[in-house]
Formats: sequence, structure tokens, C-alpha cells
Amino acid sequence: MSIQTVGVIGAGTMGNGIAQACAVSGIAVVMVDISQQAVDKGLATVAGSLDRLIKKEKMTATQKDAALARISTSTDYAALTGAQLVIEAATENEALKIKILQQLDTMLPAETIVATNTSSISITKLAAATQRADRFVGMHFFNPVPMMALVEIIRGLQTSDATHDAVAALAVTLGKTPVTVKNAPGFVVNRILVPMINEAFFVLAEGTATPEDIDNAMKLGCNQPIGPLALADMIGLDVCLAVMNVYMAEFNDSKYRPCPLLKEMVAAGWLGRKTGRGVYTY
Ligand code: NAD
Repeated sequence: MSIQTVGVIGAGTMGNGIAQACAVSGIAVVMVDISQQAVDKGLATVAGSLDRLIKKEKMTATQKDAALARISTSTDYAALTGAQLVIEAATENEALKIKILQQLDTMLPAETIVATNTSSISITKLAAATQRADRFVGMHFFNPVPMMALVEIIRGLQTSDATHDAVAALAVTLGKTPVTVKNAPGFVVNRILVPMINEAFFVLAEGTATPEDIDNAMKLGCNQPIGPLALADMIGLDVCLAVMNVYMAEFNDSKYRPCPLLKEMVAAGWLGRKTGRGVYTY
């Protein structure tokens, strides 16, 4: 199936990034959120992001206008019926996502593919809650979407080859590299990344090195653009802890034991950049 129009549910951080990536690549977008304010804010974020590209001479004003003209917005899911693919990028909450997916089932044509950008909810489980399990798939974009080259394409147990192939082809159209992943907690990137961050907290807690030296070691020794502790502060220590708790529960394997220091810092409310203090002070 060739995808000419994409519906995006949620105009937040990820939703407006996905809308921008599509619009810049010549794909028409319908971006839907619950309030006009959320939709307006999402669209303003896209406009601001395109302005920064113009400043860096990576885009012309004409290209910006053309991209923005490809994005229409609504607070009514009925606006999504012309899309060949609808990407759900609403708040990370299982009950909310199931409600949205079941609402989509009542209004979208049977052949429409539905994807979710969830970071942590089982694609197989969400698929089972829809009436289009074979036409349901995970498309896990990375933040900031316009900059990040990877899309994990997650196959639920029920996802058909045609559905997988159609969204993988779209990822390529968006200038991204799709990587095919079977449904499993954390998919690939977060499954490896978050335990590495957790291990950095163990190294810190054991007094093996200072935070600065741990981060410098991983930057210089592994060519990482940012050290694991500084990255934890960006992601949010509470988010890192929640992810480790999910792995512990899902795999029932002590190798996913959250570091006690990470738990202690979260208990203190030291969540990283968003609270002004995490491993580092901001
Ligand atoms: P966000 O809070 O920035 O945006 C969520 C948006 O969803 C909000 O604008 C909210 O108003 C809207 N929304 C809530 N209920 C809705 C409904 N019923 N219908 C339509 N819109 C609704 O969240 P985000 O960071 O953009 O995350 C969205 C999804 O992407 C989550 O599933 C998250 O796990 C995933 N994700 C996030 C990141 C990240 O770094 N932020 C990375 C990859 C994946």
C-alpha cells in the first residue's frame, strides 16, 4: 500500500515531530489532539523548528510554507478517515491508548493501517484490543523526531508482512532507517540503553569513579555523544527507574535490578534536568 496521507494522534513532543517529518517529506498530515490549544501548540512547534532549519540554511522559506501547507489539524477523529496510516502518539497510558484504538476502529476504513509510537506497551496486547490486529504495528520514533534517523518497526504476533512492509517503506520515505523488531519489553534500543544507564549508577554508587569521569570515560572510550549519567538526567531518573521496574517484572531476571542509588535519588525528587537536580545540578 502506498501511503500518501498520514494521520497523527497527539500533537505533543512526538506527534508534532512525526507530523513535521512527514510534511517535509511531501506526505500530507492530519494532526489531531484533544484540545485546540494542544493542536495550535504542536503546529507552532513545527513552525519554530522549520524556522531554525531556515536559519541554518537547511531549508528555504518556500519549502517551509509548502511543508506547513501539508499539515491540517483537527480535534475530531473524523478528520482521519482519508489517511492510509494513522500513527497514535498520545500520552503513554495503556487504558487511554486502548480507548483511542477502539474509537479508531469505529470510524476508519478496514484497510487503514494503525501504528502506535508507544515506548513500553506491548504491541501484541494493543493489537488484540483492536479489530485490525494484522493491520496494527509499532512505529517507535526517537526524540527529536526530525533529527533522529532510526525508527524501530515493531511486529506484534499478529502484524502482517504487508503492514510491516508498508510502514517500513514509509520510514524510508521520511529519510529514516527502519529496523525490524519483534515485540519485547524495551524493543531494542531502550532494552540495551536503560540497563547501561542503571549500571552507570552502580559504578557511581560503588565509588569507582566520579560522575564526570564516568561520563567522560563512556564518551571518549565508546564514542557516545553524551555520558550515561548526563543522559539519565535528560531522560528523567524516574523514567529510567520505571523502565527498569518494567524489565524486572516482565523478565523476572535479577540482572534488571534497579540500582539502589537510582531509587534513592528518585525518592529524593532528584529527577534530573526537569527538577533542576539529578546526578548533576542545573
Ligand atoms: P506528550 O505528553 O508530549 O504528548 C501527548 C499528547 O497526546 C498531548 O498533546 C495530549 O493532549 C495528547 N492526547 C492525550 N489524549 C489524547 C486523545 N485521547 N486523543 C488525542 N490526543 C490525546 O507525549 P510524547 O512525549 O509526545 O509521547 C507520546 C508517545 O510517544 C508516548 O506513547 C510515548 O511513550 C512515546 N514516545 C515518547 C518519546 C519521548 O522521548 N518523548 C520517545 C519515543 C516514544
